[in-house]
Amino acid sequence: MKEILLLKDGEIVLKGLNRRQFEDVLKKNIRTALYSLGRFEITSAQSTICVRPLSEDVDLDEACERVGRVFGIVSYSRAVLCEEKTMDAVIAAAPVYLEKQLRAAKTFKVEAKRSDKKFPLKSPEICRELGGVILHEYPHLRVDVHQPDVTVYVEIRDFGAYVHADAIRGAGGIPVGTGGKAAVLISGGIDSPVAAYMMAKRGLRLTAVHFASPPYTSRRAEEKVVRLLQKVSRYAGPMTMITVPFTALQEKLRDDCPEELFTIIMRRLMMQMTERIAHDYDCAALITGESLGQVASQTIGALNCTDDAADMVVFRPLIGMDKQEIIDIAYKIDTYETSIEPYEDCCTVFTPKHPRTKPILKFVREAQERAGFEPLIEEALQNLKITQITPEY
Ligand code: ATP
Ligand code: MG
Repeated sequence: MKEILLLKDGEIVLKGLNRRQFEDVLKKNIRTALYSLGRFEITSAQSTICVRPLSEDVDLDEACERVGRVFGIVSYSRAVLCEEKTMDAVIAAAPVYLEKQLRAAKTFKVEAKRSDKKFPLKSPEICRELGGVILHEYPHLRVDVHQPDVTVYVEIRDFGAYVHADAIRGAGGIPVGTGGKAAVLISGGIDSPVAAYMMAKRGLRLTAVHFASPPYTSRRAEEKVVRLLQKVSRYAGPMTMITVPFTALQEKLRDDCPEELFTIIMRRLMMQMTERIAHDYDCAALITGESLGQVASQTIGALNCTDDAADMVVFRPLIGMDKQEIIDIAYKIDTYETSIEPYEDCCTVFTPKHPRTKPILKFVREAQERAGFEPLIEEALQNLKITQITPEY
């Protein structure tokens, strides 16, 4: 039996004139996600994208998993392509292909869609005929048109007739890359990978920026960030990771700034430097994993001081979320277990005992200016490390 995947577009249906462009990006993202699984033909018609394996040995279970993480797809189904576009072929295929579901069910109904108007039977006739055959082959079943356990879908399209059961919910969102590019500040914590995932879902292509302070932070801490990004990239697609050498800046911070302002000035330096990198990488926004009130550097006052450091718009998708809500998403995208591995982050180096929760912007700016970070900023930006991230399945 020849199986195919049928994917329904999501919000891109709303985009009118841009629709073609959106669909092209979506198809490209699907192709990238499936690349290592074999060859596929990917076509689209009538808000359905059809994915047809071109080789025999394709792992279709894995293909479904991957397609389920591509943003822009509302739902998908695994369907059987009937031998021919005839009622006999539909009747031969459906009861066999859906045997498992039909045996487990008590009630069912058939729903037919006939977009090829040349097909000799009309939709109600298709339902009646196939329904009769299924009842005959599975006598334990009853028809229930309102709340059936299983719906058998028959679709007669231009390129063929196919049969499938209920669709599976897709990842939703907007195809990655259709909304532009953004730089995400990524730590090894729980929050920033979730923030990255959420903004990729809104169509942004990501560049990840990570600040490392060796020897205070270890090689393994950085590897942990790579592993987190490999997980995120199953949704966000391949991305570039940029590691910024932050040690000299943090040492200067320790030596030349008031202790209670360490964290806030560090956050400002991160934003400033990420903004510079963002310009070089064509990114038009910054993303952080900050959540209001979670720690001293995430109060309104502190966030105002952080925001002041960069001109670009800053997206903080977790700002109104509870920790548990964030953790639930981290579980869903499978980053949680990696995030809680106990390696130090540069944020935990030289943390003040009593950080200011209501910093005054004027004093923060003055303290930062007095210390004079510019030469060290330039030097760090000359020594960025670039790593290409691809999904880890
Ligand atoms: P996370 O779980 O993402 O580490 P957090 O709740 O621990 O967040 P902070 O450590 O204060 O909060 O960091 C706030 C945000 O600053 C992070 O979500 C991330 O976007 C950014 N950030 C923190 N540390 C780094 C780092 N080493 N490199 C790049 N960005 C960082
Ligand atoms: Mg952190």
